[in-house]
Amino acid sequence: MVGRMTTTLLWLRQDLRLSDNPALFYAAQRGAVVPVFIWDDTQPWAPGGASRWWLHHSLASLQKDLQQLGSNLLIAQGKAVQLIPHLIKVFQADAVYWNRRYATHQITEDRALKQQLRDQGVEVKSFNASLLNEPWDIKTQQGDCYKVFTPFWKRCLQRGINSTTLPIPQLLPINHVPITNASKNLSDLQFLPTQPDWATGLQQKWQVSESVAQQRLETFCASQLSRYAEARDFPAQAVTSELSPYLQWGQISPRQIYQHSAAVTDPTSYALQRFHAELGWREFSYHLLFHFPTLPEQAFKANFNAFAWQTDPAQLRAWQRGLTGYPLIDAGMRQLWSTGIMHNRVRMVVASFLTKHLRIAWQEGEAWFWDTLVDADLASNAASWQWVAGCGADAAPYFRIFNPIMQSEKFDGEGDYLRTWLPELQTLPAKLIHTPWLLTPTQMQQYGVMIGRDYPKPIVDHTEARDAALSAYAALKTQFTIN
Ligand code: FAD
Repeated sequence: MVGRMTTTLLWLRQDLRLSDNPALFYAAQRGAVVPVFIWDDTQPWAPGGASRWWLHHSLASLQKDLQQLGSNLLIAQGKAVQLIPHLIKVFQADAVYWNRRYATHQITEDRALKQQLRDQGVEVKSFNASLLNEPWDIKTQQGDCYKVFTPFWKRCLQRGINSTTLPIPQLLPINHVPITNASKNLSDLQFLPTQPDWATGLQQKWQVSESVAQQRLETFCASQLSRYAEARDFPAQAVTSELSPYLQWGQISPRQIYQHSAAVTDPTSYALQRFHAELGWREFSYHLLFHFPTLPEQAFKANFNAFAWQTDPAQLRAWQRGLTGYPLIDAGMRQLWSTGIMHNRVRMVVASFLTKHLRIAWQEGEAWFWDTLVDADLASNAASWQWVAGCGADAAPYFRIFNPIMQSEKFDGEGDYLRTWLPELQTLPAKLIHTPWLLTPTQMQQYGVMIGRDYPKPIVDHTEARDAALSAYAALKTQFTIN
């Protein structure tokens, strides 16, 4: 009954799960809980198309899970700073709980709201649900933040990782004030594409729910993790966890992944250490985003902002569509378009191709990934793009240019990954598939593929493009000293 029980508004954001959700767990201990999700696409970096698709299914699944506990999810649209105080009144809530976010605009919004609510006598508490460590807790001996991954991760491990997880509350009493005019139906938010419906590939690839995320973790640990260290770079082998979109929207927590993988694997195994180090890269990305809030927009190495990037819409489009004539690039970009994900090795090669072979600014690639990845994550995307482009923290130097032919031969020797995503090259044997532009007219006839008609010729020559990139870099270096 309204007013009898203490009521907590639970503001859910990128923590769309019931288990190991501290804000939910502690809210449930206080009394009635009103779970609310607020959609506000006026914020910077509003989710792109693929993320909205994921978000739709995440919310639908969470709504069902909450209903099974006797609760419900209230969906609203607008500015949290107005909606939360309104909902507090409607539900006569005396507290608001949420889990933290780390982008600068999110921190600003949360701080302002926290202050406003506390001034009104409302209890506000925030928790860490999405990182193993808070970005501000990891410090060098001098008390600074880290700019290099290896010492950062070493420090995290030295401190010890607390991967204790919280259970699902057994009961979630809701304070039943059923109708508020702030409430929306999920379909009102129009997250699913209609004209055209480009999400068929996403639908086939993914099932979005907390329980599927947990099952995926278990399957990965039981059948793939032992081969992770040696096979994680080979896209056709599919030994990586593919947990990244679930992490992004919070169907699973990094603590759950860390804890379960450590519990079922020999703790000294190299495979486990490698896997945990990848979670460490995610942590490092958040550490960088928190300490360098302009990371998504500006080069970490500021001199790179003066780099002579090219503007070439036709080449950018060829890259986006997977029509560059380089099979590994095209396979990766088509995997992305079709399924909303791309293997990490291939992400590195396509990003290098865009920023070095085409010399198109990393922000263009970052924006395309932001729109098309189901795991689009502001911290990891920005940090990784900058890493590949050579302008990031602890980055691969700009002059280290991935050779798309050698990468293809090395990491997809048999061409299995290429054939999966490039049907027009299906018939080519392993020794020809990495360099289709070298096919003779007789071979084209024999394999039934005409290069230049069925599959494009390379849009740039590898050696020329590499030399041009190195010259552009040399020109930048004469202007500034780049470390
Ligand atoms: P696994 O190998 O199973 O690793 C487990 C988890 O560790 C991942 O789910 C992920 O959360 C984290 N992780 C793994 N590798 C990295 C990494 N290099 N950096 C940060 N975290 C990592 N990852 C995103 O989650 N969102 C992005 O938007 C994103 N954009 C990227 C852009 C570029 C140009 C590059 C090169 C990498 C990007 N990554 C991004 C990192 C990485 O490619 C993905 O996290 C990984 O491919 C996800 O697959 P997985 O879940 O099977 O990874």
